[in-house]
Amino acid sequence: QAKNLGRGRYVFFDDSMREQLLKSMTLEQELRAAIKQQQFELHYQQISNLERTNTIGFEALLRWQHPEKGLLTPSEFLFMAEETGLIVEIERWLIGEVVEQLSLWQSSPDTSAEYQNALIAINLSSRYLTQHNQLNELIAVIKDQSIEPHRLILEFDESAILPRPDLALASLRKLKKLGVKLALDDYGASQSSFNFIHQYPFEFIKLDRSFIRSLNNNDKHLSLVTALHQLGNKFGYRLVAEGIENQETLAKLQAAGCDFGQGYFIAKPSKLAQAILPLKDKTYA
Ligand code: C2E
Ligand code: MG
Ligand code: MG
Ligand code: MG
Repeated sequence: QAKNLGRGRYVFFDDSMREQLLKSMTLEQELRAAIKQQQFELHYQQISNLERTNTIGFEALLRWQHPEKGLLTPSEFLFMAEETGLIVEIERWLIGEVVEQLSLWQSSPDTSAEYQNALIAINLSSRYLTQHNQLNELIAVIKDQSIEPHRLILEFDESAILPRPDLALASLRKLKKLGVKLALDDYGASQSSFNFIHQYPFEFIKLDRSFIRSLNNNDKHLSLVTALHQLGNKFGYRLVAEGIENQETLAKLQAAGCDFGQGYFIAKPSKLAQAILPLKDKTYA
């Protein structure tokens, strides 16, 4: 870095750099402590059809209950977890939690009908597609038979695939063979290769929040949703809209034929007991 600035120039390790370094060192240490002390929790966000009469499942979202800073969302710590590799342990914990939740629903006789069949979606880092030991660990958990694999949705975004597309495809096929469902996350946010929706074995294509937000002032985008939905019929995927924040957006998506959606307008992510309540109200009202 410093070299690029050329000969005869000095780069000072100034106060702001020192501060940055200290901050990141602290964050790393705090993350390690968080794993040991189990400060992570999962919040679940409902995914339903756009008429909101039927919940297909929940996306499990990582939260960190930080002892001083309060509840943190992934944007505040995930980069550091990735950078340090601590993400491996966090995701191991997360997968365990979700498997436990699913098997609880399956085995308890008083589970209400709505989530007798509910799916749970989890977000996974690229490592599961590119590193053999990670992939094998995941496969072992799925094969363990404590859950019905088809109730688990594994979400990957394009950044998990792009660096090694062929390797990622092979891994995705292996996972798919086990019966889990696969979702392409954040579609429409960046490169959004067409290949991903017709050559890769995704059951769900999740339209990114930024794209959904643009619907209200861009009719071309709405036509794209219609087209993507129609392609889904051919290619065998279903369309999920993320970040639905108001009635207007919901109505547009419905008209465009989008299959499912999630967003604050339908339900905010929350701990499971709360995540389920509005659902019950609706069904039994
Ligand atoms: P994502 O997978 O696209 O998750 C959806 C994000 O949108 C969540 O943010 C959710 O809280 C937020 N969201 C949902 N509905 C609305 C809405 O109507 N309006 C707005 N403004 N936001 C909405 P969150 O929980 O902060 O997660 C951010 C990202 O962090 C996720 O994006 C996902 O890529 C990643 N992430 C979350 N949990 C995990 C995890 O366990 N492992 C990994 N590797 N990544 C995770
Ligand atoms: Mg996601
Ligand atoms: Mg997303
Ligand atoms: Mg994402």
